[in-house]
Amino acid sequence: MVLLVTGGAGFIGSNFVRFWLERHPDDTVVNLDSLTYAGCPESLADVEERFGARYRFVRGDIGNLELTEHLLTALKIDAIVNFAAESHNSRAILDPGAFVRANVLGTQQLLEAARRAGNVRFHHVSTCEVFGDLPLDSPESFSEESPYAPRTPYNASKAGADFEVQAYRLTFDLPTTLSYCANNYGAYQFPEKLIPLFITKALDDQPLTLYKSSQNQREWLHVLDHCTAIEAILERGKVGESYCIGSGEELSVEEVTAAILRETGKPESLKTYVPDRPSHDRRYLLNSEKIRRELGWAPTRSFDEGIGETVAWYRANEAWWRPLQARLAIQEGQWQAQTGR
Ligand code: NAD
Repeated sequence: MVLLVTGGAGFIGSNFVRFWLERHPDDTVVNLDSLTYAGCPESLADVEERFGARYRFVRGDIGNLELTEHLLTALKIDAIVNFAAESHNSRAILDPGAFVRANVLGTQQLLEAARRAGNVRFHHVSTCEVFGDLPLDSPESFSEESPYAPRTPYNASKAGADFEVQAYRLTFDLPTTLSYCANNYGAYQFPEKLIPLFITKALDDQPLTLYKSSQNQREWLHVLDHCTAIEAILERGKVGESYCIGSGEELSVEEVTAAILRETGKPESLKTYVPDRPSHDRRYLLNSEKIRRELGWAPTRSFDEGIGETVAWYRANEAWWRPLQARLAIQEGQWQAQTGR
């Protein structure tokens, strides 16, 4: 099989490219990435060496219809996994238009290329965040049937992309699948997101800036467990279906911070509190019963194990993350001038 992975120079995409090439020795992976500030070809340096011609990188935008249509036909692509997106909630407050262009319009153009090329399976990577948030004490969780209720510019753009996927499936019979995933963590995550931001700050003895609502909770999934879930969907998923991918392991920002301080051996005094981000979601939790029951998928790493491995990875790979600190797209709180909050 020839697989087109978009956004393969990002956090989840780069893990997925390596994972797929390791597990599928007869397959070829084409990585299409426009290399925004968050794109790190360095994350795949070993992949180029290890897999030679089975891996190919193309720098380009998923919104470039001429390019994607050409790639799909010329390289005889069998399936697309669409990770490419602007993904940082904080940055979306400063530049919501960039998120609509990359996530909504970009996805629509890629769907259009797949429709024109024909015979291409399209898997779209969405997020639990399209369903909005849950009260902290709610017994509810989100499922594939939950209504969409996005609350932030990032969530809204991901929701828009999902509707495009649905429209192309219903209108043009495009063979699509879609997955909603919980918060990921693991190696190669850009140091703007909570876990790598706090690990790298802690390693540097810098303050860890927690939002005031530090009891807000997230469901945490190790990135390699996300990869096995997408593999299960590509191999055994039913076309036209969507799947929630979650670990069921919820931790508050306070608890995540405590785990990072424990694993890095740094003191509580590094914690400092800053005002919340506007429309900061309180909690997401997915009911991932469907993918577990129908596709036999289950996560393999507990958060305790995964965070230990992740801290060890950042400790050992300073050469990867140190240069990225100069590329951070936003400083927390920078939105105040724009939102007045
Ligand atoms: P990331 O920001 O680390 O990587 C995104 C990649 O997409 C980058 O390499 C960037 O250069 C590329 N990209 C952006 N716009 C592009 C465009 N128009 N054309 C081509 N490439 C483009 O993001 P991530 O954390 O790896 O997330 C990957 C996907 O998974 C996203 O769709 C995100 O919404 C989704 N997701 C992420 C999480 C999470 O916790 N990180 C959870 C659920 C879903």
